[in-house]
Amino acid sequence: MAGQPEHVLVVGAGLAGLRTTEQLRSAGYQGRISLVGAEIHAPYDRPPLSKQVLTGDWEPERIVLRSLEALDELGVRTYLGLRAVALRPGEIELSDGASLHSDAIVLATGVVARTLPGQPAAACTLRTLDDALALRTTLEKIGSLLVIGGGFIGAEVASAAVARGVAVTVLEAMDVPSGRALGPVLGALAARLMTEGGVDLHTGVRLTGFLDAGERVAVALEDGRTFEADACVVGIGGTPHVDWLADTGIDLGNGIPCDASGRVHGLDGVWAVGDVACWEDAVYGDRHRHEHWTSAGDQATVVARDILGADPPQPTVPYFWSDQFGLKIQLIGRSDLADDVTALHGEGMTGGPLRGTVAGFFAGDRLMAVAGFGAARFVARYRPLVAAGAERATVLETAAALSNR
Ligand code: FAD
Ligand code: NAP
Repeated sequence: MAGQPEHVLVVGAGLAGLRTTEQLRSAGYQGRISLVGAEIHAPYDRPPLSKQVLTGDWEPERIVLRSLEALDELGVRTYLGLRAVALRPGEIELSDGASLHSDAIVLATGVVARTLPGQPAAACTLRTLDDALALRTTLEKIGSLLVIGGGFIGAEVASAAVARGVAVTVLEAMDVPSGRALGPVLGALAARLMTEGGVDLHTGVRLTGFLDAGERVAVALEDGRTFEADACVVGIGGTPHVDWLADTGIDLGNGIPCDASGRVHGLDGVWAVGDVACWEDAVYGDRHRHEHWTSAGDQATVVARDILGADPPQPTVPYFWSDQFGLKIQLIGRSDLADDVTALHGEGMTGGPLRGTVAGFFAGDRLMAVAGFGAARFVARYRPLVAAGAERATVLETAAALSNR
């Protein structure tokens, strides 16, 4: 591809795909843009699905990111309700048999919710608007809910269900909920948040399978215990949506492998963004797949500029949040690279109230990440320190100064 492409084709009409089209136009691109999406809906926002949509506070209209009319005004041609089934050089084949040709292809197909072997119809997953509306209807009718997996989906669904007066049991494989994202120390605080919120939480469990329970749902554990409820949500992580790329010959072991500009390794003229993409970290050099809202938008900006040959934006720091049981949990940075967690504010880490607790994740003397529970006004202040990999002494001085204000 010499100069700017004539036609950019984006596969996946979720957040990352939509933002890529918007960023291309913001950067002045005037060529053709096409957006292909497997769902029939105009691009919509997923975070409210497990929060305001499930509690009934928001209706679906409120989560539309850009209507079809607005996409039309942006000069984006949409192909919704159609799945890409094959990728060949400069070409995408669609599920209706048609082919689209393009000199720049962006893959933004997200993840699909994992399911358990033998999962009965009465157990559901939560990834799409349709999933959320079906689960909301279920929550209106039931008295008890079994949640398998205590990660973000599990915790947020549990929180919404408790708020609706449903008795919730959470079964989590790890020793703490959200252990991979928060680590063992802050994961223990997430466990407290759940149990103080009224959830019957069981961690370190090994499921053997589902039992026949008629219209209800029952599961058995390796230790012989069984649990039964009116309904069940399975929130055990996501699998990158890459099955349709099997013939491309690229290694799809952990999503789509990309460099730090989102260019797919081994495929010329192809980029990948969002949950499906495994990018090289511009700062630490390792490969990472971020399944978080902010990363999807940040990566879209990088890719749009790279496609157009514009200078890359400044590297950003990863960020996510989760709203559960009346508190916002936030994390800035790469907690997975840390070997120590130190309390910076609040008393949650010594058994006191969780609200206002902030912790720093350090690798040796360097700050890798900061996380907070109900402490948004503090967490934001640490972003530049995380970005700079600040020394421990500087971080502790900042904490003391902020606490004394
Ligand atoms: P998606 O939004 O999943 O979009 C991918 C789209 O591609 C989908 O519409 C899919 O149907 C389509 N697609 C897949 N395969 C094909 C194909 N072959 N052809 C055409 N189209 C295809 N993050 C946070 O940081 N904070 C939160 O509080 C938070 N809450 C969340 C709550 C829920 C319930 C969920 C599911 C996610 C949440 N996230 C949150 C994560 C955040 O929403 C995702 O990181 C973000 O949506 C990723 O965007 P994406 O475009 O990569 O993937
Ligand atoms: P997740 O955060 O990875 O959590 C899944 C949890 O379930 C993990 O702790 C996992 O343990 C556990 N688990 C796996 N198999 C299990 C089993 N058989 N029995 C019991 N527990 C089991 O995934 P998720 O909560 O399903 O979320 C899916 C996607 O939605 C992710 O992309 C997530 O980022 C996104 N999401 C994000 C937010 C947010 O950021 N606020 C909110 C909702 C959803 P192991 O890790 O050991 O497998």
